[in-house]
Amino acid sequence: YFTDQMIQTKVSFSIAGDNFHHLVRVMRAKVNDQAEFVSKKHEVFIGKIERIDPQEAHIMPIYQLEKSAELPVEVTIACGISKGDKSEYIVQKGTEMGARNFIFLPTEFSVARWPEKKVTRKVERLQKVAKSAAEQSHRNYIPTVTYYNDLQTLSKWPGKFKIVAYEESAKHGEHTQLHAQIGKMQPNDTALVLFGPEGGLANSEVESLRDVGFVSVGLGPRILRAETAPLYLLSAISVLKEM
Ligand code: SAM
Repeated sequence: YFTDQMIQTKVSFSIAGDNFHHLVRVMRAKVNDQAEFVSKKHEVFIGKIERIDPQEAHIMPIYQLEKSAELPVEVTIACGISKGDKSEYIVQKGTEMGARNFIFLPTEFSVARWPEKKVTRKVERLQKVAKSAAEQSHRNYIPTVTYYNDLQTLSKWPGKFKIVAYEESAKHGEHTQLHAQIGKMQPNDTALVLFGPEGGLANSEVESLRDVGFVSVGLGPRILRAETAPLYLLSAISVLKEM
């Protein structure tokens, strides 16, 4: 990461740590190779590798690319904790599909829980997954990963669109609600969408969210797995808003 001033004044910058490892060891970049870098303002630049030292590489910024790989809407995916490595799958694929933030939280029917002492490690691991998926998919942003203790904390989320994906809504033909919600979204709006774990969400949970302004939507007539549902939502936003 480097600043715009460095581009303008053509001051070289150095990268170390994980970024150095990715560039030099994983991508096997050599001196004089060019690569894409992202500035602190999330703009993409082409930089040329001037020197490679044992622990750091020195890069000269060359020019800015006028491109954005971001969805026009800032989407936060919130998921009830599921079993196994589903959270990694959700973060990896959700990052490829354009999510800006992920929140994981225990809900009533969560079979799995994250023990308190493991939460920090889990979140750090998921944050790494997000970084690597963001690099792979040429995102301008690395999505954030956060853990919430409960649904009550989530219900205070301050953004504009608050949505809960509820299979009962799908049964009652409310999938048109999804289309309507996406239709109302404007560039730079913020949207939070909650998905249940394998066991789904309790009716009482959905009711309490509706009481604080969440809209429940169906995702079509098929019941999707907990890790598939967020991808359906992100694809729908991408198709309706990006293309
Ligand atoms: N226990 C539920 C059942 O058997 O009907 C399935 C839960 S589903 C595996 C996990 C989550 O994905 C749900 O809580 C919901 O948020 C979302 N989901 C899956 N399919 C959906 C659909 N067709 N409409 C709305 N939400 C859906």
